[in-house]
Amino acid sequence: MKNREIAFSNFTLIDGNGGNPLENVTLLVNESKITAVGGRGEVEVPNNVKTLNLDGRTMIPGLIDAHLHFSGGRPASSGMGYPGRGRMGELWRAFRAANDAKAMLYMGYTGAKDCGSNIAIGLKRAIEEGTTPGPRIMAAGGSISNTYGHVGRDPMPVEQAEALGREHPNGVPECLRLVRTRFREGADFIKIASGLWGESRIFPKCMPSFSYDEVKAICDEAHRAYSTVASHCQGKESIMTGLRAGVDTFEHAREFDEECAKLMLKEDKIYSPTLAVVIEGPDFAGHIDEEKKLFNSWQNESLRIAHEYGVKIASGTDFSGGDSLGGRAMGMNALDLQRLVEGGLSPMEAIVSATKVSSEAMMMEDSTGTLESGKLADFVVINGDPLRDISMLQVEDRIGMVIKGGEIIVKRF
Ligand SMILES: [Zn+2]
Repeated sequence: MKNREIAFSNFTLIDGNGGNPLENVTLLVNESKITAVGGRGEVEVPNNVKTLNLDGRTMIPGLIDAHLHFSGGRPASSGMGYPGRGRMGELWRAFRAANDAKAMLYMGYTGAKDCGSNIAIGLKRAIEEGTTPGPRIMAAGGSISNTYGHVGRDPMPVEQAEALGREHPNGVPECLRLVRTRFREGADFIKIASGLWGESRIFPKCMPSFSYDEVKAICDEAHRAYSTVASHCQGKESIMTGLRAGVDTFEHAREFDEECAKLMLKEDKIYSPTLAVVIEGPDFAGHIDEEKKLFNSWQNESLRIAHEYGVKIASGTDFSGGDSLGGRAMGMNALDLQRLVEGGLSPMEAIVSATKVSSEAMMMEDSTGTLESGKLADFVVINGDPLRDISMLQVEDRIGMVIKGGEIIVKRF
């Protein structure tokens, strides 16, 4: 149901800016936007406007997952992880991805940054036109890697990959061509893999893949198109190269140290550690112990340093619908906030990561991410206080209400 004007009263506001919660708040929505928000007596509700009393519940901005893949994967145990790579398999996965988008929205996620899938651009358009429900999506289209690639440990032959439509740019002109191709295809931003770990030739070293000149050309071209670049950026050398070349968000970014933190602060860029998929995932059983220990200790240390220096940390899960590296079903994305808190952030800081900072990672900070007059009415009413227990954001009964663009999507009280 769509309301022209509606007021929400008697709730505790966590506005996404990180300040103390405000009690007894009233918030006024007109069509898709917030028109007023304030404490008792600060907001005048016109007589003819319907008011919803939230009985002391907590309101937070709509959550945003700043790194995921609408790939329509499913757990390997289902026997249906990725049903084929051809056209039929892709269509099948697209229906699953639409279902995943809906599941996320119903759990309070009103924003999602897709860091590489062939489905997300179409899914975004289907959501925008009202065909299917889901969060606001920022989509990269296909992730860009060179011939060496971001390919996993057992890459398919290059001829086979290219027969499936994969392109591998090598050198500046080919990088530029592929960036322009992505924008022509409808990408909102560019995703590259410029620093590898799992695929590195030498364990346990991370391995830069693109050169400085290639990364710089990609970033300059994206910025010329009023867009941004996200990089799968494992390893200090790749992080420093990315910072110097203009990468905007650093995904995963293991080996993040104090030097990286200082330059990242100076350049005002965003770190997206993607904690939800990498700690003690079930399929780590198949990996060697040394590797697992290293991966987790890098992760904890990188987050600790970034947090200590006050680097902007976005919340991203790297979920894809499957259970690779411990991924969960879409809708359980708030696992990342729990991981951030386990890694040293306060619950309030974790909420800021998943709202304000993630909206900046989506290039939507002017219209989403915080609850202020003039912004889009994207918010979640929590049955309880998430500052006491951040894990409640993963519990369906706790997600009392989801509002996207002023529209009540779900109400559970
Ligand atoms: Zn990813």
